[in-house]
Amino acid sequence: TPGAAVVGRFAPSPTGDLHFGSLVAALASYCNAKAVDGRWLLRIDDLDTPRVVAGADRRILDQLMAFGLVPDGPIMYQSERSAAYRDAIDALVARGHAFPCGCTRREAQAGRIGPEGPIYPGTCRHGLPRGRSARSIRLRVPEETIAVDDRIQGRVAQHLAGEVGDFVIRRADGITAYQLATVVDDAAQGVTEVVRGADLLSSSPRQRYLQTCLELPMTAYLHTPVVVDDHNEKLGKRSGALSLTGQDPRALVKACLGLLGQSEVSDTGPGGVSAMVAQAAAHWDVSRIPTYPTINRNPVGGMP
Ligand code: GLU
Repeated sequence: TPGAAVVGRFAPSPTGDLHFGSLVAALASYCNAKAVDGRWLLRIDDLDTPRVVAGADRRILDQLMAFGLVPDGPIMYQSERSAAYRDAIDALVARGHAFPCGCTRREAQAGRIGPEGPIYPGTCRHGLPRGRSARSIRLRVPEETIAVDDRIQGRVAQHLAGEVGDFVIRRADGITAYQLATVVDDAAQGVTEVVRGADLLSSSPRQRYLQTCLELPMTAYLHTPVVVDDHNEKLGKRSGALSLTGQDPRALVKACLGLLGQSEVSDTGPGGVSAMVAQAAAHWDVSRIPTYPTINRNPVGGMP
């Protein structure tokens, strides 16, 4: 079958419970893989240890199970992947794609401000200045526009040098940066389609370029609309009142599917919420997903 090779994934950060916004991403990635008989995997993004909440991974898994979202393979924990990240970073440095940077945060942020934040001024690009030792490792970005054709949002083109600058792949605190870790892990899990919220859309050219540098297979990208609150912030970032606890799981699935523009599924069948999710996967239609990047909907007060 044509979809047999599709592998999708959901990669929550265990900084709290699954909430309405992350359920949308989980459901979308699941349906997108299952619609073509693909596999769906789970990865726990627990690299940023200061932000990890003990036990949150277990709670997220339990919540996913309750929706019938069961992964088709072992769960990957980023906290156990340091050897793979080190190998990738070493290879990038050896091939001249990455360089040690001795700048302090303030020095690194002294340059022009781009759409993604301050653009690294290039101080250590051609070697550490005398008397400086390495703090972080940065990727040397090209004077080139990197374009990714997102299956929902269309073409995302970014001139990495002009808009982003040489970005950190190993932070000064020793923690592997998200961009590097996600590319290495998606490849290790054999992921072919990355489905996630559009808040990460602007990361996809950096990730595509990292795939090129590391000679890894390219993934396809589908960025779904992100649910935001009244302050235009991604759900879960600010308010604690958006938890799924105590809400009817069938109503939640319906709300997620509505937000993703998908056709109605019946919630009266005997199979409960898992049957609804299976039905949603069978009817999954990427062309119906809204192309706007954010949707303001308060699932507690104003669920559709
Ligand atoms: N862990 C990231 C997040 O929760 C998602 C990473 C990804 O899907 O690439 O925002």
